[in-house]
Amino acid sequence: MDLLSIVVPCYNEEESVELFLSEIQSILSDYNFEVIFVNDGSSDDTLNVIKDLADSNSNVKYLSFSRNFGKESVIYAGLSNANGDLVCLMDADLQHPPRLIPEMIESICAGEADVVAARRTSRKGESMLKSIFSRMFYKVFNRVSQITLVEGATDFRVMKKVVVDAVLELLEYNRFSKGLFQWVGFETKWIPYENVERVAGESGWSFSSL
Ligand code: UDP
Ligand code: MG
Repeated sequence: MDLLSIVVPCYNEEESVELFLSEIQSILSDYNFEVIFVNDGSSDDTLNVIKDLADSNSNVKYLSFSRNFGKESVIYAGLSNANGDLVCLMDADLQHPPRLIPEMIESICAGEADVVAARRTSRKGESMLKSIFSRMFYKVFNRVSQITLVEGATDFRVMKKVVVDAVLELLEYNRFSKGLFQWVGFETKWIPYENVERVAGESGWSFSSL
């Protein structure tokens, strides 16, 4: 691997981004990486914090939206601007454990898969109502769709550039990345992990927006 691009959606993450970066720096000290923070029109100080990190660290880049467009738009913009031959997508709040990244990279470099993605094995810490509706969503989706979504599948993944290009070629207007990642195919390996609570701030999703 020459370069790993890490795409990080950020909506009101002023308290998380520094913690996120220091965690990434300590875990990926042996790797060549760039972090691309994508500010999704945050109303807090996220943009300034990210700008400062980018000024003092040549591994850090950022994009910033003029308003809140939602995580799907962030993912598209971030993936479009990733230069690495491997691309990692992960949340800013440390709910996607960075310690899994080396294993994900090594697995792809060993030729085991084109994509290594993380799967939550528990929903510990989540409200009962959210868990119930989430399970129902997966059941209904898998019944009506040609693709099968893996239970507990997250957006947290490391992908070869060829997979990213395939996803970006799909010019869907209303994007559902979890489905698109599955739809493009490719050899995918799943790594299970226990749910982790966010390091700071609160979830950007209301029940109705989910
Ligand atoms: N996020 C975003 N735009 C939004 C909502 C969320 O970019 O409109 C980001 C957020 O900063 C985080 C990731 O998407 O990095 C996941 O959001 P969150 O942690 O709120 O979701 P949850 O973990 O509760 O599903
Ligand atoms: Mg979260």
